[in-house]
Amino acid sequence: MENNLLYIILLSITLISVIISIISLRYAITIRKYLKKFIIISKKISKKEFHIRLDTNAKGELGELSKNFNEMIEIMHSTILEVENSHLQKESILKSISHGILAVDINSNIILINERAKKMLKCEKYAKIEGKSINLAIKEKTILKAIMPFIASKHSVVKEIKLPNDDVYTINIDPIYLHNVNDRIIIGSIINIKNITKRVMLENMRSDFVANVSHELKTPITSISGFVETLKLNEDLDKETRNRFLSIIESESNRLKRLIDDILLLSFIENKESVLFEEVNIYDVFIEVYDMTSYLAKNKNITVTYNINDEKIKCRTNRDYIKQIFINIIENAIKYTPKDKYIYIKIENFDKYFIFSVRDEGIGIPDEDLDRIFERFYRVDKARSREIGGTGLGLAITKHIVKNIGGSIKVNSELGVGSEFIIKIPKK
Ligand code: ADP
Repeated sequence: MENNLLYIILLSITLISVIISIISLRYAITIRKYLKKFIIISKKISKKEFHIRLDTNAKGELGELSKNFNEMIEIMHSTILEVENSHLQKESILKSISHGILAVDINSNIILINERAKKMLKCEKYAKIEGKSINLAIKEKTILKAIMPFIASKHSVVKEIKLPNDDVYTINIDPIYLHNVNDRIIIGSIINIKNITKRVMLENMRSDFVANVSHELKTPITSISGFVETLKLNEDLDKETRNRFLSIIESESNRLKRLIDDILLLSFIENKESVLFEEVNIYDVFIEVYDMTSYLAKNKNITVTYNINDEKIKCRTNRDYIKQIFINIIENAIKYTPKDKYIYIKIENFDKYFIFSVRDEGIGIPDEDLDRIFERFYRVDKARSREIGGTGLGLAITKHIVKNIGGSIKVNSELGVGSEFIIKIPKK
C-alpha cells in the first residue's frame, strides 16, 4: 500500500517535470523564433526598410513586446522622415540663395557651403567638402586671402575685392555665436560672397555717361556763349562776319537740341518698363521714313533704291520704335555716303520675322571700330560726325530699341567700300 502511494507520487512528479520541460522547451523555441525575427527585422530597419513589421499574434509579453517594437519602428520612421525633410528644406534654401554662402568653424574648417560659393571659390570638384580646411579646399586665392584674417573675428567685416579677371566681389564676414543660457560663444564665421561685377560696370557706365553728356553739352554751349560774347563786345562788326557768327550760333543751338533730344530719347527707352505692342504695317512705316529722309539724299545727289518682297507685312511690334530704327539707319547711310553714290534698302518678309537691311557705298567702318559703334557717344571720326550733325547716340538708341522688341542688329563693313546694317525683327 505504502509502496503504491510512493509509486504514484514519483510518477506524478515525473509527469509534472516532463510537462514543465515540454512547456519550457516550447517557450524557449518560441522566444528563439521571435529573437531571430527581431534580429532580421532590426537589420532591415538599419538599412532603412521601415515598411517591415513584426507579427503581433503572439500572446502575453511577446505579443506586447512585438506591438511596442512595431510602434517604435513607426515613430522612428516618422522622426527620420521629419529630420530628412527639414534637412532637405535647409539644403534647398541654401542652394537657392543666389550668392555664395560659406560657414567655417574657428579652426577654418568648412561647416557648410552652397553650390554658388563652391563655384566662386573654385572648389566645385569636391563632392563632400564639409570638414575640410578652407586653406586646402579653396582654390580662389584672392578671396581666400581676403577671408582668412577675419575668420572667428567677433566683428562683422565687409570687403570689396577685385579678382585678376576684373570680376568684383563683396564679401561679408559675420561671426556665428552659439547662444547658451547665460552666455554666447563664438563658434566660427559665416561668409556671404556676392558677384557685383555687373553692378559696378553699370555704375561705371552711368558715371562715364554723365561725364560724356557733360562734355558733349559743354562744347556747343561754350561755342554759343563765346560767339554771343563776341557779338556783344563788337557792335560795329561788319554784316558778313556778324551773319557768320550768327549762323555758327544757330548750328550749335541745333546741335544742342539734337543732343538733348537723343539723350532724352535714350533715357526714355531705358526707363520704359514695358513696350506697347500693336499691329504695325511695316511697308507704311517705311514709306513714311523714306519720304522724310529723301530730301537729305537729294541734297547729296544720292540715289536710294528699295526692294520690299511683301507690302503687307504685318507685325505685332511697336510702331514708334520701328520708325526710329528706320530713321537712324537710313539717315546714317546718307550721312556717311559721299555725293552721287547709291544706297540699297531691302525688307524681306519671313514666317516669323522680317529683315530690314541698308547697304551703302559710303566711307565704311574700320574693323577695330565695328564692335564699338553701338556704344554711347562712340564715333569713328569725332570731328566728321560732329560736322555732319551726329550725336554719337543714334546706333546706341537703335540697338537698345531693337533689343526691346526682341530683335537683333548686325553690321558688315569695308573701309572705303561701304557698310551694310542688317536688322532682324520678330513679328510677334
Ligand atoms: P552719329 O550721330 O555720330 O552718326 P551713331 O551712333 O549713329 O552716331 O553712329 C556711330 C558711329 O558709327 C558714327 O559716328 C560713324 O562713325 C559710324 N557709322 C554709323 N553708320 C555708318 C555708316 N552707314 N557708314 C559708316 N560709318 C557709320
